[in-house]
Amino acid sequence: MSSQLQTDIVIVGGGIAGLWLNARLGKLGYSSLLVEQHSLGGEQSVKSQGIIHGGTKYALHGALTGSSEAIADMPERWRRAIAGEGEIDLTGVRVLSNAHYLWSPGSIAGNLTSFFASKAMRGRVDAVKGAELPPALQDKKFKGKVYRLSELVLDVPSVIQKLAGLAQGALLKAQTIKPLYDQQQQLIGITADEHQIQAQRVIFCAGQGTQALLNDFAQTQPQQQLRPLHMVLVKGANLKPIYAHCLGAGTKPRITITTHPAADGQWVWYLGGNLAEAEGVARNEAEQIRAAQKELADLIPWLDQSQLSWRTLRVDRAEPAQSGLVRPDNAFLAQQGKLLVTWPTKLALSPDLADRVINSLNTDHITPQAPALQAVLAQPEIAQPAWETLF
Ligand code: FAD
Repeated sequence: MSSQLQTDIVIVGGGIAGLWLNARLGKLGYSSLLVEQHSLGGEQSVKSQGIIHGGTKYALHGALTGSSEAIADMPERWRRAIAGEGEIDLTGVRVLSNAHYLWSPGSIAGNLTSFFASKAMRGRVDAVKGAELPPALQDKKFKGKVYRLSELVLDVPSVIQKLAGLAQGALLKAQTIKPLYDQQQQLIGITADEHQIQAQRVIFCAGQGTQALLNDFAQTQPQQQLRPLHMVLVKGANLKPIYAHCLGAGTKPRITITTHPAADGQWVWYLGGNLAEAEGVARNEAEQIRAAQKELADLIPWLDQSQLSWRTLRVDRAEPAQSGLVRPDNAFLAQQGKLLVTWPTKLALSPDLADRVINSLNTDHITPQAPALQAVLAQPEIAQPAWETLF
């Protein structure tokens, strides 16, 4: 049945960016409606490793770049939200690890010595030993150095669940999104399937789907880039938790391991970092699994691999286009009249993205006007994580 709805802000896309923004706007008194095509969090967000970066990984280059500075506040903002004292209420979200670790399998290379000594890193890294090591590295054969970072790792499905609850039903599952124009051909909202939704602002938070939306809304800018990954998942009863970037010769982590709880009580290791980048993307599934097995045999030789199950997952990171396909530095926002186009570029940067949207609303004097939607609309489901669907 067709309907006409009125809201302050309509958000297209229910990944972490759209859901966080939705919760933040609600706290500020705006009414909003979030429209999702498939499942909440089901594209990049629940396929992410859940690391709330503070920028340490990016500071490995020796000098702090723009991204390291913008991202430095993020762990604290997420921690406050989880403690119930932040800009949105994330109480009840599952924290998988209170720290992320940096792990050097050999002696520290020269460039890293200056990195650890740098002013930027002071107070942000501590060396750990013995019982403080991640459980997976607590073995007498372990050699190398491990540093605790002031970053945290979250169970993203529980974040999505919590944020979906905060939307209080102002969610709509719809397949086809089209622009809604007035008689002067000015954008006044969207048509989502049979619903005409008028809003003061339309905000795209659609990840990879943003490019197609831009085309449908006759926008030539901004452009989107996709950076592919070929991740590896390992499941087994003998796995122990570890959340760490393992350093290699270069400035990018050789491998990044996070550990996720499967519903059957077993742990799943999720392997990213350089393993999943260009060379990994070029490998087929069997080759990528062999590459991962070899890396783990080299780095964690005491791990018995005989009972482990292996899968791979291809997934693209969707971002604003940069020259040379480099990683953008901050959350991104571009505005064309009533249309705001966003990519967080990192799960961790969702608070930064919401700040940018709110700054734009304030600059344009957009104030809460429409009442919260009471309509009972078709609700999108919450995505299952890859460690449940692939094994
Ligand atoms: P998405 O999560 O992709 O959500 C977009 C949503 O929009 C989807 O639900 C989609 O169905 C919906 N949509 C699309 N088109 C339409 C349409 N036309 N109408 C309605 N809805 C639509 N970042 C970190 O900070 N830490 C990490 O550890 C980390 N690890 C990562 C690991 C991997 C393997 C990948 C791929 C990324 C990782 N990232 C990480 C980056 C992070 O996952 C993303 O930056 C973030 O999840 C993007 O969120 P999003 O809401 O923009 O996009």
